[in-house]
Formats: sequence, C-alpha cells, structure tokens
Amino acid sequence: MSSSEPLLIVEDLVVRYGAVAAVQGVSLEVHTGEVVGLIGPNGAGKTSILKAIFGLVPTTSGTIRFDGASLAGLPPEKVVRAGIALVPEGRQVFGTLTVAENLSLGATPRRDRSSLSSDMDRVFTLFPVLERYLATHAGRLSGGEQQQLAIARALLSKPRLLLLDEPSLGLAPIVIDGVHDALDELRRAKVTILLVEQNAARTVEFADRTYLLRSGKVAISGTRETLAGKVDLAHAYLGV
Ligand code: ATP
Repeated sequence: MSSSEPLLIVEDLVVRYGAVAAVQGVSLEVHTGEVVGLIGPNGAGKTSILKAIFGLVPTTSGTIRFDGASLAGLPPEKVVRAGIALVPEGRQVFGTLTVAENLSLGATPRRDRSSLSSDMDRVFTLFPVLERYLATHAGRLSGGEQQQLAIARALLSKPRLLLLDEPSLGLAPIVIDGVHDALDELRRAKVTILLVEQNAARTVEFADRTYLLRSGKVAISGTRETLAGKVDLAHAYLGV
C-alpha cells in the first residue's frame, strides 16, 4: 500500500435487506490517523455501512478495501484479524462476566500476545475506571463505564481501524460528556476511527471529516471547517 492510499476505501456500496435498499451507492474513505464521522437521521443506513465493512451483512454491490485488500465475503472474525474492530450500538458487554474477563475476550483475536500487558496499561491510562473495577461484573457498571469497557475491549484486538456505532446512544447527557472525553483521548492516542453518531453538530466538530447520510446516500461531506455551516443548512432544508 502506498502511504497516500486511504486505509479504508468504500466504493459505490449498496446494501439491501430484501426490498429495503438501506445503502444506495455510498463511497467514503478513511486515512490512517483520521477520525471520520458518519451522521444522518434514523434509518439513513449508518449502521448498515459499519455492518457491511465488518462482514455482518452481505454487500449487494460495491467494493470495500482495507489496507489495499478487498474485504469481500470475509466473516467478522477474519475482518478482526485484518485489523478492524467494531464497537456495536448498545455496547453489548457481557454483564455476567467481570471487567477483566470482558477485556481478555477482546484480546482473543490478536496474534501478538507479547505486547498485551503494555496495551492493557495503555487502555487503563485511557480509561482508569476499568482498572479499579477489574473484578466487578460488567453488568454492575454504569452505561458510560460499559461504553468505556466496550471500546477498551475493541482496542485490545489491536485494531488499525476502530468502528464506533453510536457510542452515546441511550446515555444520560452527563455520561455522554464522559464518552466524548474518552473519544478525545482516543484521538489524542492517534487511533483511526469511523464514528457513527446522531448528534450532527458534535460529530462535525469532533471529526476531521464527516459524511452526512440521508436515505442511504451521502448528502454532503467535508472537513470540520467546510461543513460547519452546511450542517445547519442540512438541518433546515433536508430535515436531517
Ligand atoms: P439508526 O440510527 O436508527 O440505527 P441507521 O442510519 O443506522 O439508523 P440502518 O440501521 O442502517 O440505519 O437502517 C437503514 C434501513 O435499513 C432502515 O430503513 C432500516 O429499517 C433497514 N434495516 C436495517 N436492518 C434491517 C434488517 N435486518 N432487515 C430489514 N431492514 C433493515
């Protein structure tokens, strides 16, 4: 891969569920070190794009390339081994397992076990609360702490691209601030992120670049600077 080629290239992606065309020809790119936002109203197709990248739903047409190779037909366990991790909507931590057990499950797919303890330390630096609650059942953590655990678990697979699906969904406003602090930490740590969010303004401000999706298509896209005014426009005229 040349250094200028994006890490992830999605081209003309179409995802259909029977008669429902959830994604209708979406193209997007993520470069190494970038934080890219994917915003849009309910049902715009955001989750379907993440699922298609991760091999959880089949693509009807289009291509998805990661690090110079096609992901076509790869099941999630192979996508993880290729270097992508997904933090799904709703967190989905194992409530009856301890924080430590949840974290060790995240480390299962990695080939390189030698640096596991230094990566654990890094995760505890990002999310100190997890180290305090290592022996606690994950179900006893608050929603925001569970989100930190879900992100930490994903990081332990040592991904080169982190897919985050609505990390603030269903959380109280004060907890959402905490999740955004955690995302800030990830950005400072130079983690490459594709972030799905419903909060358009906050995402445009946070991400380096953002794609605004509407009815399965990219309505507008651009950098933080170029999009700032346009998202207001989208709110006004597109009903986003
Ligand atoms: P949300 O913010 O509500 O999660 P989204 O932008 O992530 O929305 P998707 O979840 O990708 O959108 O859904 C896109 C469209 O596909 C919607 O019309 C949805 O109802 C439909 N859809 C999603 N999953 C399925 C499925 N398994 N079977 C049938 N239709 C589906």
